[in-house]
Amino acid sequence: MKYLNEYRDSKLVHAVIEKINQTVPQPWVIMEICGGQTHSIMKYGLDQLLPGGIELVHGPGCPVCVPSLEMIDKALSIASNPEVIFTSYGDMLRVPGSRGDLFSLRASGRDVRVVYSSLDAIKIAQDNPEKQVVFFAIGFETTAPANAMSVVHAQNLGLDNFSLLVSHVRVPPAMHAILGSPQNRVQGFLAAGHVCTVMGYWEYLPIAQKYGVPIVVTGFEPVDILQGILFTVRSLEEKTYNVMNAYSRVVTEAGNIPAQNVIKQIFVECDQKWRGIGEIPMSGWKLSPEWKKFDAEERFQVSEIKPNESPLCISGLVLQGLKKPFDCPAFGMPCTPEHPLGATMVSSEGACAAYYRYGRNA
Ligand code: SF4
Repeated sequence: MKYLNEYRDSKLVHAVIEKINQTVPQPWVIMEICGGQTHSIMKYGLDQLLPGGIELVHGPGCPVCVPSLEMIDKALSIASNPEVIFTSYGDMLRVPGSRGDLFSLRASGRDVRVVYSSLDAIKIAQDNPEKQVVFFAIGFETTAPANAMSVVHAQNLGLDNFSLLVSHVRVPPAMHAILGSPQNRVQGFLAAGHVCTVMGYWEYLPIAQKYGVPIVVTGFEPVDILQGILFTVRSLEEKTYNVMNAYSRVVTEAGNIPAQNVIKQIFVECDQKWRGIGEIPMSGWKLSPEWKKFDAEERFQVSEIKPNESPLCISGLVLQGLKKPFDCPAFGMPCTPEHPLGATMVSSEGACAAYYRYGRNA
């Protein structure tokens, strides 16, 4: 397949590894932002091909991992309402809340449905006018435009039985939080190519310059990721702290302007809680006051929920690059993909699930 197979070519992979070997006389810590990249790194064994001096740590860019426990508990509360059809991406059903998950709730008889997009939820709302249909709007800049469009669509259709439970997050404030932490270990970032496809990469230059870190926009195939690492270590060795685009077949600096405009039309930036990490200022989006009638939190009055996280789970430290999954005492036992204690073991993009699946046991 064009633009795919050639980026998995083993000769190219080893050629880029050789260039990285020639470039790295000293250790560097690089964070890949996106869980999809983490998964590719583990799947293709890229971490094991790299010279020992390069340590990859795994960022918070897994959309299923970061919605706060409080938000999962709100989803469970809303989905428990017999008047509600609760709709969500499939991975979210297994994310543990304080008292169970959406999958268990569905098994107990509540109407919880897996959909592929918020537009599927709109269709369900049209077909079930006697029910309230709620879509769990999670994710980064990648899913926000379609979810914003669903609100416009619901308005145009005159639907009053559709709403969003919004838990959107943004990458740049998370990078600020990681780099600004006194414990920070990250010296360079691989930025997520799909996020930059939507948002461009103009937001990243002030971050690179403020903290003195190179940021390289990177794709998801082995050659993409290794090129991103090569660009990053070259910059680190040369002490040049810019934003580079190693995914130019997809990403432009400006990004997708119509998608950015629909986000601005429907959402406003807000402080957001990230699971295991805590609140990061202005790191999320919520519905703007003009569109509040589509806000499930307002419609169902679930603001008083007090969550209860597993005391064993250190996923917040994993998502900041401060610990590896195998540092967690629960990794592999009792926490497994079949019985996850934390969100990073649930999703195929979660770092703990990737380490478990591909056997990275310390
Ligand atoms: S192994 Fe499980 S309990 Fe430990 S950090 Fe990962 S998700 Fe949390």
